[in-house]
Amino acid sequence: MAGNFYTVACPDCENEQIVFGKAASEVACAVCGHTLAVPTGGMAEIEGDIVDTVEAR
Ligand SMILES: [Zn+2]
Repeated sequence: MAGNFYTVACPDCENEQIVFGKAASEVACAVCGHTLAVPTGGMAEIEGDIVDTVEAR
């Protein structure tokens, strides 16, 4: 398992953004700056709603 990508909907502005499941740095919404993912050392903690999972190939 190389890790998946997730389509995450921002809880503040509903912008949908692709986030890597093992993001090594904080991922912020491109529109409003809300934090969408926080690195934990393994699987990142997703702060928004995961609307879709994109399997890594
Ligand atoms: Zn946003």
